[in-house]
Amino acid sequence: MLLLAFLNTVTSNQHSAATLRMGDQKQEASETKHFPWHLGAFDAHCHPTDTVPSLDSIAGMKTRALTIMATRGQDQRLVADFADKLGITEDTVPALESTSTSGEKSRGYIVPAFGWHPWFSHQIFVGAKDEMPSKFNHYRMAISPSPEDDDFIASLPDPRPLSDLLDQTRHYLERYPHAIVGEIGLDRAFRIPRNEMVDNGYERDPALTPGGREGRRLSPYRVDMRHQQNIMKAQLNLAGEMQRAVSVHGVAAHGVVFETLEETWRGHERRSISKRERKRRESIDVAHQEKKKSEADEQSSKPGDPKPFPPRICLHSYSGPADTLRQYLHPSVPAIMFFSFSRLVNFSSTSNKAVAAIQAVPDDKILAESDMHAAGEKMDDLLEDIVRKICQIKGWTLEEGLKQLRSNWLHYVFGQTRER
Ligand SMILES: [Zn+2]
Repeated sequence: MLLLAFLNTVTSNQHSAATLRMGDQKQEASETKHFPWHLGAFDAHCHPTDTVPSLDSIAGMKTRALTIMATRGQDQRLVADFADKLGITEDTVPALESTSTSGEKSRGYIVPAFGWHPWFSHQIFVGAKDEMPSKFNHYRMAISPSPEDDDFIASLPDPRPLSDLLDQTRHYLERYPHAIVGEIGLDRAFRIPRNEMVDNGYERDPALTPGGREGRRLSPYRVDMRHQQNIMKAQLNLAGEMQRAVSVHGVAAHGVVFETLEETWRGHERRSISKRERKRRESIDVAHQEKKKSEADEQSSKPGDPKPFPPRICLHSYSGPADTLRQYLHPSVPAIMFFSFSRLVNFSSTSNKAVAAIQAVPDDKILAESDMHAAGEKMDDLLEDIVRKICQIKGWTLEEGLKQLRSNWLHYVFGQTRER
């Protein structure tokens, strides 16, 4: 029922209405049909380490693999510990692609992601240990507006040098060859929480990993945008150097997320051939020219060589307008772009924008995620829900959708060579 109401909201758009009508039969089927978990469902972005006791339930989950994000000081080790137990290895990769019905309750695997989230980026000093300013001077520079309130600054953790964070991330990426970088990004809406709780009766949940928002009152302070960009860029460069995919958070900052990513690939843009050039080539020795070009391309950008930009980028819980997708999908963009959608972020209130974005994302560039802070049944349900929605909007059967989403996730995490 909810889904029908949701579909009705898009009928104002003629184009979408037509597209949806075409897939009506498939939609009806995918709404009521048993969910074929055995085909493999993959969560492209989630935070089970926010609730440590829930980690025990990962092995029994229906979702085939979880891409687990680290965000702050308190969770990098937790993600690593879990990668030790359930991390994907060369031996387990074939099990990711199994579609046998007997494996309906196949074991859950995880792909760890290491990175520093923009909500905690003020805790990082952009520089090396021996250049560290005083705690007060650091936070006055990293926070906007610059806090006059010394008590507020005193309540924040001691800042940590960026060089230290990058060393730690590099160490984890070396230790886990399938690990990716995340969660990183930019957030213009976020305000730094104070230590005081919103209401005095709030009781801390001992299951939650410290450092998150919980019930804390928000301060009027934000992390300076230039500062956020510096932290994001350093991590993008590291992902490029190590040739790992990244998971990117962007809230109220769509323009500046693109600019920051673009800065990392400036000078590395893919050359696209104009129509005139294509015609000219058709009339001359095309084979020879093409061969020369592809040789040059291969030399200038071998996949796997360190670069300043990541090879694959996922904009998680993509909340930008469909129009903004165009700049990312431009042929000159040298990174492979993916767009992931979640029930929690993209379909919480108004969903028209998400419907339009899902329609506009190319079939092979879409991913599904739960973005959930605890592993278990609820996480499976959220993933099932968003997969069903994506299938409806795209006019796919559940079988077609799961197959496509699996191939997209494998491409995103492992790169071209793993694409099936
Ligand atoms: Zn997240």
